[in-house]
Order: sequence, then C-alpha cells, then structure tokens
Amino acid sequence: MFNKKSVEDIKVSGKKVLVRCDFNVPLDGETITDPKRIVEALPTIKYLSSNGAKVILCSHLGRPKGEFNAKYSLKPVAAKLSELLGKEIAIASDVIGEDAQAKAAALKDGDIMLIENVRFHKEEEKNDPAFAKALASLAEIYVNDAFGTAHRAHASTAGVADYLPAVCGYLIQKEIKIMGDALEAPQRPFVAILGGAKVSDKIGVINNLLEKVDTIIIGGAMAYTFKKAMGGKIGISLCEEDKLDLALSLVKKAEEKGVKFLLPVDSKATTAFSNDTPVIVCDSDSIPDNYMGLDIGPKAAEEYSNAVKDAKTVIWNGPMGVCEFSNYEGGTRAIAEALASSDCTSIIGGGDSAAAVEKLGYADKITHISTGGGASLEFLEGLELPGIACLNNK
Ligand code: AMP
Repeated sequence: MFNKKSVEDIKVSGKKVLVRCDFNVPLDGETITDPKRIVEALPTIKYLSSNGAKVILCSHLGRPKGEFNAKYSLKPVAAKLSELLGKEIAIASDVIGEDAQAKAAALKDGDIMLIENVRFHKEEEKNDPAFAKALASLAEIYVNDAFGTAHRAHASTAGVADYLPAVCGYLIQKEIKIMGDALEAPQRPFVAILGGAKVSDKIGVINNLLEKVDTIIIGGAMAYTFKKAMGGKIGISLCEEDKLDLALSLVKKAEEKGVKFLLPVDSKATTAFSNDTPVIVCDSDSIPDNYMGLDIGPKAAEEYSNAVKDAKTVIWNGPMGVCEFSNYEGGTRAIAEALASSDCTSIIGGGDSAAAVEKLGYADKITHISTGGGASLEFLEGLELPGIACLNNK
C-alpha cells in the first residue's frame, strides 16, 4: 500500500516549495533531443503553481563530478520549461549560493524558477547533511517527483527531507501506483520478461518476481548463463561463469513455485560482436564453438509472443538481444509488437527496453513506461527506495 503524502495532502499556497525533478535529459550540445522527462514533470509543476506555491525546481544533469561545468548547466531545461509552460522560467546561476537565495526570496505566489545542477556540488551524491540543510533553507516544503533517482540517497533526493515537510509529486505517485498494483494484485496470467546483459544485475528481480508471477521469460545475454548452467553448449556467448550455480538455483526455485521459466529454444548467432558478420539460426543449447548468441531466434520469439498474448499483466525489463544492431533487434521487436497488440496491462521498466520500444514506435501502445530504469528495477526487487522512504506518511 502506497501511504505517502502527496502535493494534494499539504497546503502549498503562499509557500516556497523545493521540487526535485528528474531533468536528466539527453542533450546534443544545448539541444534537448528528448524532452520526455520534462513533460512528465509538468503535472506537479502546474498544480503547485496554480495553487499559489512559489516553485523552486532542482535536478541533476549528467555527471559533472561535483564542480561547476557549463556543459552540464540546466539552462537548456529552463528554456524548454519556458516554452512548455508559456512563460519565462528564470534559472539561478548557482545551487545554494547568493543568486539562488535572492531569486528564491523574490518569488511571488505562482512563480516558478530553477536552480542549477545539484551535482555541481560533490556533497550532493554524498548526501552531506550541511548541503541538504542549505538546499532545504531555500524553501518551506519539499516535493520529490524524481522517480528516476528515487533509488539514490542523495542530498536532493532524500537528505533534504530531514529538514522540511516532504511529500511526493504526481509522477512518483503514478509510477508507484501502477507498478505497486501490478506486484500486489495483478490480473493473471502475470508474465515477467527479463533480458539484458547480465544475470547478476537481475538476480534480485528474478527472486522477488518468482514469488508473484505465473511465467518468467528470459532473453538477452543472460539466457546463456542459464543455458550453460543447464548443460547447454553456448559457444562464445556472454556467460557469467561465477553465476552458474545461482542460475540453476533460480530455475529450481521456479519449478518449486510452479512458475513457468522460459529460456530461448533458439538463437541468432554470429562469430563477432558486430552487425557485419554472417548470421545463423541455431538451437540455444548447441551453439557452434566459435559463435555467440546475440538475439533470441524465431521459434523463441514466437513462443514468447504467444505467452504475452495470453497474459493480462506483463512487466518487461531488458532487451531480448543486441537491439542496437539491426540484425539482432528481431526478438525485442517481436515482444514490443506482441505487447502493442495486446490489451493487457503492460509495464516497461525504463532503460534499454523503454528506449527500444520508443525507437520501434510502439510507445503509445504500452500502458506504462517507467521513467526510471534503475529505480524501477529496485522497486521490482521489492526494495524500499530512499527517495520514497524519506517522504511523510499519510
Ligand atoms: P541491460 O543494461 O542489462 O538491460 O543490458 C542491455 C544490453 O545488453 C544492451 O546494450 C544489449 O546490447 C546487451 N545484450 C542483449 N543481448 C545480448 C547478447 N545476447 N549478447 C551480448 N549483449 C547483449
């Protein structure tokens, strides 16, 4: 049960409100190539402003390594916000310095401003209490709406809540509601699709989901660690040798729980990590010695698509193959197509699979694409996210 206070549970009129957003947008020079994260923050910003709050927005952008670097300035975000909100959004030239303080003090009810990149201070990622206190001193209320960094205990994502009443914004509320409902009371069959590079990144998620789902579908490079653990010949496919026992224990746990555990029956394989070497299709259990599996094969794609078609709830994290290469995007595309044509509740846990679905043009057919790759993985693992744990309970 999500029992955290939201912006609607606190009086914001006339109050200075510090809002942690996730404005970590992709940039090409000073041009924002995808404004999704800014757009997702608008409902909270508009609510606060139209209810008379003095809104102070903050975020990180990239990795400026704890010092000022114009390359990571939030100025392009301020310009985009001005465009989207139809009014000039001022940006302070610092984070907690004189300009930020003066601009914050001069705000009128309904005004919106931005302070500079919180990662211009090395204290941000260290969750330094003095820095968190200085940030807090700009405002009277703290709102966290940055789901993408909610798994980090940084000064602006968690520490600041020690000094101010702390509530969530609409984006965090939406993310937690949709994923929480799926985990707690899913419509069945409930299918989890996990792909990507490493089993080690997904152990916690597989363990937690084995308690909840009817079927787990495995793709990506991590399928080969499972295949090898079960006695298959995987050629030179990626494999985590030190995770073979663990892989077997997960397969056994699935059996004990009555969870269907699907591994790819076939693979597309080649001789180098390249889009230019000839492709073969082979059984995933008998990949030739000098070949590596880079995508699930057509039989696996069909089996997985059918499992998706029968499902009522699907959670997906991680591509089925090296979808950056056109020769190996087929498995990921098949899953995206099956999800797009199904009326199930479909949830994509951010990161590479979200990017792939967007690139392939199916994003608007998906129920929910999470704005946080790392955060959604930790949520699916059943972990408490520090940026949410720090908020006031209802
Ligand atoms: P992750 O960040 O764990 O979700 O992994 C995503 C990455 O896994 C992507 O960059 C894919 O290229 C890579 N990947 C997926 N399948 C394979 C594979 N069979 N072999 C090597 N890399 C893969």
